[in-house]
Amino acid sequence: MKPLRPTKCYLCGKPLQGVKGVEDYDHVPPKQLLAKSLRKPENRIKLWTLRVHRACNNSYSADEAYFTHLLIPFAKGTVAGEAVWQKAVQDYAEKKARDIVHRVLNQAKPSVNGVLLPRGKVWLDYEYERIDRVVGKIIRGLVYLERKAILSLPANINVRITLPGQSPPDDFIWFMTNAPGESAGEHQGVFAYRYSMVDGLHYWAMLIWDRVIITACFAETTSLYGEEDR
Ligand SMILES: [Zn+2]
Repeated sequence: MKPLRPTKCYLCGKPLQGVKGVEDYDHVPPKQLLAKSLRKPENRIKLWTLRVHRACNNSYSADEAYFTHLLIPFAKGTVAGEAVWQKAVQDYAEKKARDIVHRVLNQAKPSVNGVLLPRGKVWLDYEYERIDRVVGKIIRGLVYLERKAILSLPANINVRITLPGQSPPDDFIWFMTNAPGESAGEHQGVFAYRYSMVDGLHYWAMLIWDRVIITACFAETTSLYGEEDR
């Protein structure tokens, strides 16, 4: 993907004016998905960045931390996932980000509707609005990078998470088999995605750390895109 010089912040749609301290670089996907140990130049993994307002970017920080920590327990098993896991373990030992870890752990319930789950299984009663918000941001960032267009998302983008060992939803299997388009990840083992428009529906599939599949799907409406000045 070619570097872009955005003239607008894709998060709020307002112009960027190059004011020092007011603007910042946003990473697409969130930086926390890529462990620092893999960010070395020799690994050649660099996330895409977009210039945005710092305040707009910061308004997502807590949700992105939640998103990452919710998925980290399932990260182990690949190089990129293991690196993120190790970093989380180290942070916890250093008493960093403990609140968010405890919050996620408290959301893992041993029973569903009063029925006790088999030993070792938990029901994750997660904060889906926060996950939807982060997934929506990633999608909007990718759309901006690809088309230099600001996407407005509908209220519901039907986000689903498939963890390692779970079967992905049927629509995902259909999408990967039949929908046009190729996988567009450039961040080997960290993040890959595929997008297509099928029967008036936008369908997005993302793969994080080669471990977790996230799908999002929403209807096309007439006013989804606001083109940037070119
Ligand atoms: Zn903004």
